[in-house]
Amino acid sequence: MKYTIKKPEETTRPARALLACTMRAAKKRAFVAGLSGDLGAGKTTFVKALAKELGIRRTLQSPTFILERDYKIPGLHPLSARFSHLIHIDAYRLTEHDNMFAGHLQTLMNNPENLILIEWPERIKKILPKDTLFISFAHKDEKTRTVTIR
Ligand code: ADP
Ligand code: MG
Repeated sequence: MKYTIKKPEETTRPARALLACTMRAAKKRAFVAGLSGDLGAGKTTFVKALAKELGIRRTLQSPTFILERDYKIPGLHPLSARFSHLIHIDAYRLTEHDNMFAGHLQTLMNNPENLILIEWPERIKKILPKDTLFISFAHKDEKTRTVTIR
């Protein structure tokens, strides 16, 4: 499914589509999505739209320098019955040989209450689950971006 986005607020559409995908997914482990695309393509904006949809009111910041941010999902959204935490990871500075992070990520992925979104997933592809949902972001021209959910 490909979405053409003309302004940041329209990112709500693919964010809702991702939430719909989580409802069909296996419930034994975390739901993991990888967000691919160049710098400035709209990955963090997508996570912000998703957090807003889930009723998270804390200001979401890019986890670039701290690798990971964890947001509690309030009990207002229907999906809070399935997920208690939105976890936003920026893997840009990581490699799959980073054993300490790999162990930590494994723990996060084993918890079915986690909804995990990973920017730069290709950096750690080998340690991602096989059923990871990949979403690609592209900056087409000044006003147009695309979000493609595979
Ligand atoms: P990434 O995380 O992929 O590097 P960001 O989501 O941080 O990119 O977006 C970079 C900049 O582009 C931000 O200033 C953001 O406000 C802007 N931006 C993102 N998506 C859109 C959009 N659909 N329309 C206009 N500006 C956008
Ligand atoms: Mg970003």
